[in-house]
Amino acid sequence: MSTNNPFEIARQQIDACAQILKLESHVHEFLRNPMFEVHVSFPVRMDDGSTKIFQGFRVQYNDAKGPTKGGIRFHPEETIDTVRALAAWMTWKCALVDLPLGGGKGGVICNAKEMSKAELERLSRGYIRSVYQFIGPDKDVPAPDVYTNPAIMAWMMDEYSKIAGKNKFGVITGKPICLGGSLGRGDATARGGMYTIREAAKVLGLELKGATIAIQGFGNAGNYAASLARDLFGCKIVAVCDSKGGAYCQQGIDHDGVCQFKAETSSVVDCPKTERISNEDLLEMDVDILIPAALENVITEKNAPNIKAKIVAELSNGPTTPEADEILHEKGIHVIPDFLCNAGGVTVSYFEMVQNLYMYAWDEATVHERLDKKMTLAYHSVLKTSKSLGINMRKAAYVVAVQRVVEAMKLRGWV
Ligand code: GLU
Repeated sequence: MSTNNPFEIARQQIDACAQILKLESHVHEFLRNPMFEVHVSFPVRMDDGSTKIFQGFRVQYNDAKGPTKGGIRFHPEETIDTVRALAAWMTWKCALVDLPLGGGKGGVICNAKEMSKAELERLSRGYIRSVYQFIGPDKDVPAPDVYTNPAIMAWMMDEYSKIAGKNKFGVITGKPICLGGSLGRGDATARGGMYTIREAAKVLGLELKGATIAIQGFGNAGNYAASLARDLFGCKIVAVCDSKGGAYCQQGIDHDGVCQFKAETSSVVDCPKTERISNEDLLEMDVDILIPAALENVITEKNAPNIKAKIVAELSNGPTTPEADEILHEKGIHVIPDFLCNAGGVTVSYFEMVQNLYMYAWDEATVHERLDKKMTLAYHSVLKTSKSLGINMRKAAYVVAVQRVVEAMKLRGWV
């Protein structure tokens, strides 16, 4: 049944995987539900002197393989079901890249774009005070996600440390470098995605030098994806977009120019030397690689028949609905599923946790090399499973990840 509810979609995906793996019904049922969640409500003093009440969530989906891990989103349309779905996907993501971590996610309903820096700081600290007792370096470790960033992570780490009465850098990842952040964390999601695109291109025999790319979303992941695809492989980025619309240039977009234009106008739309396109047109463009890098449910049964890319590399979480998935598979489009393609972020977050524990800092080359190894291994284990079982790449990613979580649950004696 067609739905836009991300948690319903996550459950449909788990159901399909349970069928392939012939999971016992109680194991299947356990995996369909988060193990723990909190709903919080907290006051924040606004700059005009008024007090606003904000609502937030933290979901710890499954911690069989280790402390739960996953970002915090600040979004006006955040819902508990979105956070549940994202926490489920974090569980499979961490298992797929074989990290000793479970999956979690948090969110606060707010419009970060309309808040001042001081209001955002008070909101960030208020959220941490509300969830303090449920998180921790060996319990649940948040990170950046949609509309949260290293500065916010620094306030959150500081608030947690203040309450704990000692420095607890390991409570959160994606921190600024001078506060225990890891080199290579900033572009890790996009860079990890690039390693999977490189492997997919080898498999498909696609020459990456000069290959055309359209990127939907120009936040952290989309922006870095554009510069890395150019710098690492010599790809040509022909279209980018943000929530206000898109910019197209057949000869290749001048990345620095677009970044500067967006910094000045807060959008890529009408950037000099580009043509205006809609977000819908961008998804259906005749390019070699399409990179969704924004929010959920953008590739649906409506537009999937018109998608022309050879590779769809899902840098965002949940961009493709199950119906669209089937259509892309039938069309022979190579989909690098979200929790494989965007696992680079949490992988370097894990490296950050390890470095914090040892109070040691790795150089950037070491981070890149270890990230490459993890992503390449994960890509090929998914590809191998997809080929051996004759299933699409997303289902194969589920099979590899869920098997690992189930093994951990069984060895712990839970099921
Ligand atoms: N928010 C990112 C994700 O969805 C990173 C999570 C993390 O680093 O813990 O994968």
